[in-house]
Formats: sequence, structure tokens, C-alpha cells
Amino acid sequence: MIMRKRIVAGNWKMNMEIGSARELARSVCNDLATRADLGLGKGKEVVLFPPYLFLPEVVEICREFVGIHAGAQNCHQEGKGAYTGEIAASMIKSVGATHTLIGHSERRSYFGEDDELLAKKTKAAMENDLTPVFCCGELLPEREANNHFEVVKSQLVNGLFWLEEVAFRHVVIAYEPVWAIGTGVTASPEQAQEMHAFIRGLVKEQYSEEVAENLTILYGGSCNAKNAKELFSNPDVDGGLIGGASLKAHDFLQIIEAL
Ligand code: PEP
Repeated sequence: MIMRKRIVAGNWKMNMEIGSARELARSVCNDLATRADLGLGKGKEVVLFPPYLFLPEVVEICREFVGIHAGAQNCHQEGKGAYTGEIAASMIKSVGATHTLIGHSERRSYFGEDDELLAKKTKAAMENDLTPVFCCGELLPEREANNHFEVVKSQLVNGLFWLEEVAFRHVVIAYEPVWAIGTGVTASPEQAQEMHAFIRGLVKEQYSEEVAENLTILYGGSCNAKNAKELFSNPDVDGGLIGGASLKAHDFLQIIEAL
């Protein structure tokens, strides 16, 4: 049975080159290796999301450490074929990665990825035994118009809720209000908790209370060493998806300590 976990994930986006990426992955792993007190592997996990090119190497670095995994930032919806420049879920799996982000807001806004496409990408990930970390979240005008619950609901209904219960149990959801990503403006702990509880409620309605209780929901958006503890202490916030602050081993470690 898939149980609810506590996860801190680092989305490196399009940053670094192989030398600095290798150094960051090694530094995170070596620091964590000395911290048995953090309980990694016992219901707590760290997942690194480097650029594709560095993924095989980051997988190898993480391999010997308990509770530290590596994943891709995206995957293509098709299995193989004439899609120049794209990467299939089976390829990601074949290098030993375990997770993939799906529908990060930068994919939605800069690459036009809509819910229909994201549903296909989720399917491709699941068929290849990758854990999809499905991102959802509203834009600032949507929150200001008090539409944020409807927006997130429709992203989940269209992107995920077509899954059978047995498959849905493998999904991790990341709530990332777009106005908080890379802006230095963080959702308040109350705003995060409110939306996470709403998402869990939707999952309860769609599947069951037991499925909802075992779902892992991460918060993302300017989460850092200073605010992580308060965000993660909410009952429905099971950890974080971290962008900028995951690029410095020291900051990232402090966020993991807050888990
Ligand atoms: C992200 O890109 O998923 C993210 C949360 O970025 P940041 O932490 O930099 O806001």
C-alpha cells in the first residue's frame, strides 16, 4: 500500500553545468548521509530534479543513499518516435530515475501545456513506473478574482481524476501558486493549508477518505530555509517543491531539516 510521505524536492530548472550539478548532488547526498536523525527512507524522502542531461549522473550519485531519489523535470507523452528534441518516460526510467514533474507552471505558461496534454504525460509516466509529481496552482489574477479553488479543481479534474484509484495512489501533487514561484512572495501558511485541505477534500470526494489521507501534497513557491518550518507544520502540507533555494546545498539542507 502507498502511504503518505514527507518529501522535499529540488527543481533545478535550467541551471548549472555538469561540474556544478555533480558538485551540488554530491554535496546534498554527503551532507544527508551524516544525518540519520532526519529519518530519510522512513516515510521521508528527498528528490532531485536536475536537467535531463545531468540526470543519469545524478541518479548514480544518489543511488547509494537511502531515501534520496532523482527525477526528470518533464517527459513527453508519446512512447517513442519522430519527436526531435524530446525525451520519453521510458528513457527517464531506463537511466534509473524514479519521478517526473508533470505540468510545472513554467511548462504550462511557456510551452503551452494544457490539462489534456498533462493527462497524457501522466499516463506515460505511470505506464513507465515513474512517480508523477503533478503541479497545479493559480495565477495572481485568478486568486485576486477569488477563482483559485475553481482553477486548481479544474486542473486536477482534467489532469488527474480520470485515473483509476489504483493508479492515482502513486501520484504526488504539488500545489504551486504561480504568483509565488521565483518571486520571493510565499503563500502564507494559512493560504497553503487552506488549498491543501481543499485538494485533499476533492480527492476524498473523487476516490475515498483513505486515498485522500494517503496522498502526499507538496507546497511550492519561494519556500526557503526561513519559512519552510512554518509551511511544513500544517497538517495537510507534506513537504515542498523547491526551486531557487534547492541550488545551494546549505539552504536545501536547512529546508530538509524542517521536514
Ligand atoms: C518551482 O519552480 O517549483 C519553485 C517552487 O520555485 P521557487 O522555489 O524558486 O519559487
